[in-house]
Amino acid sequence: MAEYCSQCSPFKNEFDINLLRIAMKLKNGRSINFVCEGCNNRAVYKDENGNLFLAKRERDEIKLHPVKIEDLMY
Ligand SMILES: [Zn+2]
Repeated sequence: MAEYCSQCSPFKNEFDINLLRIAMKLKNGRSINFVCEGCNNRAVYKDENGNLFLAKRERDEIKLHPVKIEDLMY
């Protein structure tokens, strides 16, 4: 079965990868990897200062995009 993250799930309120929940439980300096089959999101990373990043696969590279916790609510 395909796994979708909360940003791209075609099913409202139904997704396997809850980005918000992942971000909330992440400790500083850690990341959690996942594979979303609906979009290019590949990991959530929190740096030593508590800044959040979304790692996206772009072409053959993984790029970090700064995000706020609010950005992950939907
Ligand atoms: Zn996704």
